[in-house]
Amino acid sequence: MGRKVNILTVVGARPQFIKASVLSRSFAGMAGIEESIVHTGQHFDRNMSDLFFEELGIPDPDVNLGISGGSHAEMTARMLVALERVMRERSPDMVLVYGDTNSTLAASLAAAKLHMPLCHAEAGFRTHCRTNPEEVNRICTDHLASLNFAPTPQSIDNLIAEGLGEVSSFTGDLMYDAFQHARSNAGYKKVTLAKFDGAEIVVPTRYVYLTCHREENDSDATLCEVVTAANRFDVPVIYPVHPRVRDKVSRLVEELSANNVLLVRPVGYFESVSLTAGADLVVTDSGGLQREAFYAQVKCVTLLPFPSADETLRDDRNTLVSQVTAEKILEAARVEQTVNPSYRPFGQGDAAEKMVERIVEFFERGE
Ligand code: UDP
Repeated sequence: MGRKVNILTVVGARPQFIKASVLSRSFAGMAGIEESIVHTGQHFDRNMSDLFFEELGIPDPDVNLGISGGSHAEMTARMLVALERVMRERSPDMVLVYGDTNSTLAASLAAAKLHMPLCHAEAGFRTHCRTNPEEVNRICTDHLASLNFAPTPQSIDNLIAEGLGEVSSFTGDLMYDAFQHARSNAGYKKVTLAKFDGAEIVVPTRYVYLTCHREENDSDATLCEVVTAANRFDVPVIYPVHPRVRDKVSRLVEELSANNVLLVRPVGYFESVSLTAGADLVVTDSGGLQREAFYAQVKCVTLLPFPSADETLRDDRNTLVSQVTAEKILEAARVEQTVNPSYRPFGQGDAAEKMVERIVEFFERGE
């Protein structure tokens, strides 16, 4: 590239920190690209934010907007206004967003209205469920982007089917790159985890790894089914609880005397990968964790009617529980997977490299 280009990365939530860490590492080694990072503030607890920046070596954000909470509209609107101001001040050559959160949508709208090129990493996933709040964010972002990076064969097909083939390409999944990086962190194995009161518990030899916090599952009734099922597994269940459901889940575990359920604070990324790889089973409503279970070849039960990526469903490697009841969770957990290690729909672990190439090509074409 003839000149240095300025890329403004906008992140706000835990999975975005993980994905951004991989590309930030690549940018750091390039003379032609200067990255600045805006943190919207969507996730702000230490264990949901700072820990990831430290552990994954992400440069400190240049700007932190400190915006979180409120309804979807309130949060997105406040971010939109604040991001427009930052983008005007900094005039980046490109705005880079990840995934499907309100931070992603706000940055995409702000960039599009300022006629700034937008690049979307993790484009093309579709749940085909418009009541899933992230589906709206994904669709809008993909359609506003000048560059879409698709993590799987199905996601590039989705983009092509929506007429976005010209601006889209298959790169593989940044989460897979991040996962491989974490696994190569040789010798990393956390043996204790912190409960809410700070007391340490030792990770049992055998366990189920559970995360559940999404809007679709945050009613008392649904969380009660999840805790009931978790209490009936024949190995302990480790459940790092997202702050948004912490009070409810703590109360339910106490009311149900669910002693098989070990509630802990949210863990760091390396801990999460290590817990995934060592688990008998993963039960989750997290998009990222479904894919990590797939990479680790650990059976996954998903507490949603749609998968993170259709590719995870093959050979029963991921079983969906559409109507979350304790019985259905236990039934899904009994479905055995078969693993074909040569089936690798998430790329080769070089998604970041491919994305950087495409970004450089974009500027060389003078777009
Ligand atoms: N994760 C983590 N600590 C935890 C729970 C999850 O680091 O206590 C990781 C997990 O391994 C995955 C990501 O956070 O990489 C998933 O984030 P989240 O569930 O918030 O978002 P989603 O994947 O649904 O977009």
